[in-house]
Amino acid sequence: MSSKLLLTLAIFRVILTVGLSLDPTELLRLGFDGQLSFEPSDVETASKDFGGLQRTESVAVLHPSSAEDIVRLVKAAYESTHGFSVSARGHGHSINGQATATNGVVIQMSGSRKPASAIVSEKLMYVDVWGGELWVDVLRSTIEYGLAPKSWTDYLYLSVGGTISNAGISGQAFNHGPQISNVYELDVITGKGELLTCSEEENSDLYHAVLGGLGQFGIITRARIALERAPQRVRWIRVLYSNFSGFTEDQEYLISLHGQEDTQKFDYVEGFVIVDEGLINNWRSSFFSSNNPLKVSSFNAEGGVLYCLEIAKNYQESNALSIDQEVEDLLKKLNFIPGSIFATDLPYVDFLDRVHKAELKLRSKGLWDVPHPWLNLFVPKSRIADFDQGVFKGILGKKTSGPILIYPMNKNK
Ligand SMILES: Cc1cc2nc3c(=O)[nH]c(=O)nc-3n(C[C@H](O)[C@H](O)[C@H](O)COP(=O)(O)OP(=O)(O)OC[C@H]3O[C@@H](n4cnc5c(N)ncnc54)[C@H](O)[C@@H]3O)c2cc1C
Repeated sequence: MSSKLLLTLAIFRVILTVGLSLDPTELLRLGFDGQLSFEPSDVETASKDFGGLQRTESVAVLHPSSAEDIVRLVKAAYESTHGFSVSARGHGHSINGQATATNGVVIQMSGSRKPASAIVSEKLMYVDVWGGELWVDVLRSTIEYGLAPKSWTDYLYLSVGGTISNAGISGQAFNHGPQISNVYELDVITGKGELLTCSEEENSDLYHAVLGGLGQFGIITRARIALERAPQRVRWIRVLYSNFSGFTEDQEYLISLHGQEDTQKFDYVEGFVIVDEGLINNWRSSFFSSNNPLKVSSFNAEGGVLYCLEIAKNYQESNALSIDQEVEDLLKKLNFIPGSIFATDLPYVDFLDRVHKAELKLRSKGLWDVPHPWLNLFVPKSRIADFDQGVFKGILGKKTSGPILIYPMNKNK
């Protein structure tokens, strides 16, 4: 890492951690083109997140109308005698207060007052988007050209800056890598308030620090995202296993096919654990309709736990005639419980936006805005069987109905 970048990062850290009292008139003097809000309702929204476990009050919320507004704010924080906290907030779907700023200013990157964005290059197969753009809006913009980003999260109401500050993973990651492996270029505002463009070739230390950098190395105002030709439809399939080793062996086999021809692999591989009948009521269960309700007790599950492999095959309508055969050939190589196949066919956009349907259902029951203690773990292959024994069949004690996703990732992606 170059010494220049180290200096920049160190300064950013000072700004982010020294939260002394902040004089609102000092902020008002900066003259933003967007809106600097001291409204209690704005401050309240920016003090919380989806986790619902933390509350950290800021002094103000900036709704920027351009990257220059953010430059102005970060420069002021850097040059001010005492410094003050600045934090970018995308859609606030963190779970532990990561996007809040104690006694400082939250920059609300997503929302109705965001700068206009999304410029698609059909020739070079990328889209340039504002850092606060939600992935669902990126999809809406690119699908008009018959194009779509390659790598996704399960849920699309998250911001580009928010997910690429983490990693952005879903069932496509075995094939294309996480979202951070599908970003060509970024515009980033550093801790000194400099607006820099970075990529593999230009300011590459900054580029690598910001991707997966947990918002600590700069504020992403523009991202250039890789696109592919968007499939039109998806065959979405779930099969069940009563045996953990059979389940993980099939998952690992499926992701080992990542270099194969499109017809010889699935495009999406995930899976989840069913520790009790609660699956029927949980937020990812919409796929099991009331016409084919799932009864865990009807399968001879080892330790009372079932495993569901979730796979999907994308296709164009022009290939609709061959899709049944392609799927059948792929399924033949798997060792799931015979007769446990649930399959559906839907437009690509509906598949990508599948969690939103479940969100609306939970919202209608008042179950979306509740505290969300969540845990994400990478478990090495060598210990995954112990994890199953100790956690899924052990400490969970058949008492949880929350979603438990489990799927393998290729380290080299
Ligand atoms: C229902 C739900 C489903 C999810 N599904 C998935 C999934 O399938 N795969 C997955 O990988 N993750 C998933 N997540 C986790 C999610 O990707 C992260 O919590 C992500 O950070 C949320 O994005 P956000 O826009 O809400 O970010 P925020 O919570 O607003 O911010 C997250 C972090 O990023 C920083 N940040 C935000 N914007 C910027 C920016 N422009 N520049 C620099 N830093 C910035 C913030 O300061 C903070 O540190 C899910 C979360 C929820 C609530």
